[in-house]
Amino acid sequence: AVAVGRRIRSRGKWKRVARVLREVEEGCEGSVGRLRQVVDAMAVEMHAGLASEGGSKLKMLLTYVHTLPNGTEKGTYYALHLGSTDFRALRVHLHGQQSSVLEHEVEQQPIPQHLMTSTSKDLFDFIASSLKEFIEKEGNGSELSPDRRRELGFTFSFPVKQMSVSSGILIKWTKGFSIVDMVRIDVPACLQEALARKELDMRVAALVNDTVGTLALGHYHDSDTVASVIIGTGTNACYLERVDGIIKCQGLLTTSGYMVVNMEWGNFWSSHLPRTSYDIDLDSESPNPNDQGFEKMISGMYLGDIVRRVILRMLLESDILGPISSKLSMPFILRTPMMAAMHEDDSPDLREVARILKDILEIPQVPLKLRKVVVKVCDVVTRRAARLAAAGIVGILKKIGRDGSGGITGGGRRSDVKMKRTVVAVEGGLYSGYTLFREYLHEALNEILGEDIAKHVILKVTEDGSGIGAALLAASHSSYNVDTAK
Ligand code: BGC
Ligand code: MG
Repeated sequence: AVAVGRRIRSRGKWKRVARVLREVEEGCEGSVGRLRQVVDAMAVEMHAGLASEGGSKLKMLLTYVHTLPNGTEKGTYYALHLGSTDFRALRVHLHGQQSSVLEHEVEQQPIPQHLMTSTSKDLFDFIASSLKEFIEKEGNGSELSPDRRRELGFTFSFPVKQMSVSSGILIKWTKGFSIVDMVRIDVPACLQEALARKELDMRVAALVNDTVGTLALGHYHDSDTVASVIIGTGTNACYLERVDGIIKCQGLLTTSGYMVVNMEWGNFWSSHLPRTSYDIDLDSESPNPNDQGFEKMISGMYLGDIVRRVILRMLLESDILGPISSKLSMPFILRTPMMAAMHEDDSPDLREVARILKDILEIPQVPLKLRKVVVKVCDVVTRRAARLAAAGIVGILKKIGRDGSGGITGGGRRSDVKMKRTVVAVEGGLYSGYTLFREYLHEALNEILGEDIAKHVILKVTEDGSGIGAALLAASHSSYNVDTAK
């Protein structure tokens, strides 16, 4: 009788696990119909954000970049990249002839955790001294005449309201950064002051978002590149917009007729997004509640934590493993790379899943059946993220008339439409380093666009566009390169 009672209780527990799983699956459902609604909402919000300041949660920020590098740039330029947990300094040598390999040197350093929530002076002093050390190692190879001031492209991967290509104020922090005294402050000015304190004579020639750097490098290699997307710690996109479409900025004139617009799509919101109670809890416990809603469903900073929350709820509600470890209640303890490793574990007994659950979350002895459930949770969360990112990309294509829906006249079929080759530059670990994420994203692009259209849309991974692209933009906006700086 005791054994039977135990078996019945256990069956009840598994039922509760299954119920939580089913609810997550339903809550994350991104059918192609729903994705199309997200596509439409994205295109509508893009219009609204371009129509008036504050017209949408999509900020659609002006970048003042209206010509993209084309390969004629020459000289040695520096770039700095501040945007996630690492900080990078680069030196890029440009020979004025487009080649697929740009010569460059990089130095990467983790940003000490405390500097992410400290003061702007502390953060920029750290950056300036790292840059100084990097410069002191400058070899003889640089094409820098002795009387020439070094010029820098500064990639700052946060929302910035730009006044010009080389100035702009921070609107807000994202991705766990929170340095209060910097909000609404001119970012290059902070850097310039820190450089002066270190007696480094350098000019910030361009202040760029990482998406803009990525677009610049993508375009340098392939002139059909019209947009770029980052899916890493955070997520965002930018694209080339016609200046006369930027209604909120009347009288804006550029020689090219175009300007790169930084969408800040991480802050996109729509009632069509498949949102669960886990997303709501994650948001309200985050340092930036009610902000970056799209980002919190897509990017690497958050996916692992959504999975952690689901596992926690499963174990609490089912009591299947008895008392749970306190580790499981710690926000962000399960990082996305660990989650991806569990998701992609192809050993028959899910050894890697067991190891991560034990080492990271301190849950030992997880039965195989439960490991399989954990893999399923990772799958559901990642698939939703990838599909939403795909819908975002199609939203941009729709806005610029590259989704194959334009120009259909009576009776025309979608496949009759002449579709131009359209390249989107992509960067970030989720896309480039997480196979299942990438596959789900492509699958969704095909579903939404149809294969006839989707085959003209090429996603190309750029290598360190965020950094190298900034150096390219510094070159094209350099005071020494007047003929290319328009
Ligand atoms: C920032 C964007 C950035 C993106 C990717 C977001 O959190 O708001 O400016 O482009 O992360 O790094
Ligand atoms: Mg990043």
